[in-house]
Amino acid sequence: NDQDSPAMGRQRVTAKGTNVPEPAETFRSLESRYELSSLLLGNLEKSGYHQPTGIQAHGIPILLEGRDLVAISPTGTGKTLSYLLPIISALSAPSSSSKQDTGCGVRALVLAPTRELAHQIHNECLKLAQGRKWKIMLFSKATANNLNDKNVRDKVDIVISTPLRLVAAMQSGSVELSNVRHLVLDEADRMLDAEFLSQVQEVIAGCSHPNVQKAVFSATLPAGAEQIAMGMLDNPIRLVVGLKDT
Ligand code: ADP
Ligand code: MG
Repeated sequence: NDQDSPAMGRQRVTAKGTNVPEPAETFRSLESRYELSSLLLGNLEKSGYHQPTGIQAHGIPILLEGRDLVAISPTGTGKTLSYLLPIISALSAPSSSSKQDTGCGVRALVLAPTRELAHQIHNECLKLAQGRKWKIMLFSKATANNLNDKNVRDKVDIVISTPLRLVAAMQSGSVELSNVRHLVLDEADRMLDAEFLSQVQEVIAGCSHPNVQKAVFSATLPAGAEQIAMGMLDNPIRLVVGLKDT
């Protein structure tokens, strides 16, 4: 089924897929619907996020319901929070398979094409996870050495990395992905192009748990890249956000 939501500011959102959840008009509405923690709602307020953008209103419920997602939304529309909030919520909740205490290895993985972008995502994630005891790691040359220490490695909950860094860490045995339940490709048009595709496929293969939620975010997604993405996802919902004509 298709649905339009012209109510979301100047953004027009189109959703395709089966059983598309209702969009969330406010962050607070997620509290009752999905048991979003008051800690997380407080962190949103502190970050100055009072009202969800179009991609957030539509994308967050989809991810909170555990569905796979392809999200195409212009630059600056808040894609980062769209995937970080559901990850943080899933890792906080006490009662589901991905929702365990710390100490069981990497449970969420975000891949981005550049170090700078990975750095920004890491900062955003630290803000949203304030008050939690998780270890949220940005993989870089500097952290690669720390990872050899098993005590550090086993305590990492969320990893943000470029594909190259992560593949290097996998190959040296310094990261274990078999407990990953949430995998995000940000700027997916680049992640699925010739430069990164084989690395991304290696990472996906390393995420060996049978139940990995996958989400793909991009400002644009050429047909070829989208076809590759669709092949990686399980019954995904596809969201497209466009700026409405004025
Ligand atoms: P995108 O990845 O789609 O280009 P970002 O996630 O980088 O967009 O967000 C763009 C900017 O908008 C950031 O500065 C972010 O802090 C801000 N932002 C995101 N969501 C909201 C929101 N709901 N309310 C206010 N600002 C927001
Ligand atoms: Mg972005």
